[in-house]
Amino acid sequence: MMIFPVIAFSIICLATSTDFCYDEGYCDPYAWGYFFPTCHPLLESHHSPIDLSYDVTRDEALEPLRLEGFDSVQKGQWRLRNDGHTVVLEVGSGMKVSGGGLPGTYSTLQLHFHWGSLATNGSEHTIHSHRFPMEMHIVNMKSTHPNLTSAMEDQTGLAVLAVFIDVSYAESVSFSPITKALTSVAHKGQSAVVRPFPLANLLPQDHLGLYYRYHGSLTTPPCSQVVLWTVYEVPMIISWSQYEQFAVGVFSTEEEADQDVLLQNNFRHVHPTYSRRVLASREAHLLGAACPAAPPHSGVLLLPLLPLLLSHLEPTS
Ligand SMILES: [Zn+2]
Repeated sequence: MMIFPVIAFSIICLATSTDFCYDEGYCDPYAWGYFFPTCHPLLESHHSPIDLSYDVTRDEALEPLRLEGFDSVQKGQWRLRNDGHTVVLEVGSGMKVSGGGLPGTYSTLQLHFHWGSLATNGSEHTIHSHRFPMEMHIVNMKSTHPNLTSAMEDQTGLAVLAVFIDVSYAESVSFSPITKALTSVAHKGQSAVVRPFPLANLLPQDHLGLYYRYHGSLTTPPCSQVVLWTVYEVPMIISWSQYEQFAVGVFSTEEEADQDVLLQNNFRHVHPTYSRRVLASREAHLLGAACPAAPPHSGVLLLPLLPLLLSHLEPTS
């Protein structure tokens, strides 16, 4: 996950002023621990993301979360911003998340995305080692905390809803308010106004009872182990062209930079679960050891990207 800089820079800067990256050896996720000690994957630490695999445990008490305000159009304006590591949508203060085993009510702060490239998938969590093309994180802070600094000192201070995003032919009307604004935030530091829409549109609304739950960390520095993860089982679908707008339309560099660098593969590698229990909601499919169930739509992963890749490789006149 990625906490939007306006809210999180103070926390990130507590660790060090060194920035992080995904594409250079000296600052990529495997090197984060050198600059951000709390990102170092010590034995028995609770880092994210993880691979959702065979050893999930059913918890009959895990019913669908209560998503307050997600079905309505919020007042005011939302803002989409390229922070050089991802694209973040700040969504105001009108939405809350509770229930589903969460220890309290959480206020929704922002959402952002992780993606791959035209040739690689880029979700953070995986199912049976299978990586989806994209993953969206909706970040929520426990309402009892006055600010994010306080929430980061609470092991359950944040609750993140993770949604896999798959790719197919059909254009997603639900994601179009975001994808249409991407050209306005192509470069680091750029932002654009987005008219509010029901955030529930971005969730698998007919399958909200199917999810996995575990305790983990931020997936970006400072990698604080303060997150209760809810990973929805059923992915959302966007079109090839919408995926392309992320994969080859967003840069990690500023507009004034001498050379544009594409923002691609902005995901952290998976970490061991160690002694953690990964819970399956009452309705979720158990990822059984004997005959592991393929995640929905898993057959189309990357295949839809093949024409994109091929067209990318064709000589241009
Ligand atoms: Zn994230």
